[in-house]
Amino acid sequence: MKEISKSKKLSNVAYDVRGPVLDAANAMEAQGKKIMKLNIGNPGAFKFEAPDCILDAISSNLVASEAYCDSKGLLSAREAIAAYNKKKGIEGVTVNDIYTGNGVSELISLCMLALLDTGDEILIPSPDYPLWTGASSLAGGTVVHYICDEKSGWMPDIADMRKRITPKTKAIVVINPNNPTGAFYDVDVLQQIVDLAREFSLMIFADEIYDRLLMDGKTHTSIAALAPDLFVVTFNGLSKSHLICGYRAGWMSLSGNKDCAKSYIEGLNTLSSMRLCANVPAQQTIKPALDNLHATDYLLQPGGRIYEQRKAICEALDKIDCISYVKPQAAFYIFPKIDAKRFNITSDEQFALDFLREKQVLLVHGTGFHWPEPDHFRIVYLPEVNALYESMQKLDDFLKTYRQA
Ligand code: PLP
Repeated sequence: MKEISKSKKLSNVAYDVRGPVLDAANAMEAQGKKIMKLNIGNPGAFKFEAPDCILDAISSNLVASEAYCDSKGLLSAREAIAAYNKKKGIEGVTVNDIYTGNGVSELISLCMLALLDTGDEILIPSPDYPLWTGASSLAGGTVVHYICDEKSGWMPDIADMRKRITPKTKAIVVINPNNPTGAFYDVDVLQQIVDLAREFSLMIFADEIYDRLLMDGKTHTSIAALAPDLFVVTFNGLSKSHLICGYRAGWMSLSGNKDCAKSYIEGLNTLSSMRLCANVPAQQTIKPALDNLHATDYLLQPGGRIYEQRKAICEALDKIDCISYVKPQAAFYIFPKIDAKRFNITSDEQFALDFLREKQVLLVHGTGFHWPEPDHFRIVYLPEVNALYESMQKLDDFLKTYRQA
């Protein structure tokens, strides 16, 4: 047969979280080695169990879910999402402005495909959740990363954001709470982003999938609630808050100035119809989940697994020389800094690979999240406390002799 090569469209797609480190981990597993995986935010893989209301909803509605539904989603799900938006202060979102998806992932890709032409620019945080950069570049857009500043608790650097806006900029992406940093943005920061978007007449994509995974008494504000005059697309879903990554239940809500986005919305409707609809059984979980918003709160309070695991990972990192971090306030990620000079780290991917090969612990290197320097890595602190302590002890041991060639 002739050689089968990938499409040229993929040549610019930066999606480094897959790649040699993950390939090596898979190969090691295939040889029977046990890998401690601190690389993926998948609660179900670490014995977190979905609330009963979710399991009941999906199993008792299987027969009722055999047909395609409306391409925007099940009405009962969209009604529940509309009520959720209202509760969060996002006004004027009707069931017609809501689209369910096979996870937020599908909808991010769909939105980028509908928006970006070659040369269009989109502002995405650095570090980012890398799908945003991958989907934007696959759609033909030019990704411009704005810096989130570690020194100010990983808050978006508004001056940096401003500096990067050009006549070609079409949108600003805001990920709050944030993956990979675990940062949570307060109203003041959100307001500054809204002011900037207003000044330059830009739309906002708000990825708020972690809005229900807050610690320390924080309350989440949706950026769309502060911007009723701008066009905002807000993303949310149940993968994390209701521990059902595998079901693929996500949605997006369009709010604010929809008149100026008529053509874009037409594009979204076309792409939404082309995939017929999202997985219907999973959509049956949306109403019960949003009726039971606090079903997993116990995990984030003292004594709860996520809360205690955050404490453990911070304590364990405190004991390692040359590593510093900003304490996360939400989700289950931490993005520590390593003294790259001391270990002569010029490739953080190589660092992750070397650590994996020697200690069988899988981390993701910071440049995989489009962080510009080879001096960070992400830990997903979903494994139980003992596994976290053990992994960090291994990191400490590893660093005692590690020098990159
Ligand atoms: N957005 C962020 C910030 C994420 O961290 C993730 C998954 O980790 C997603 C979106 C995608 O979530 P899903 O497709 O499971 O809804």
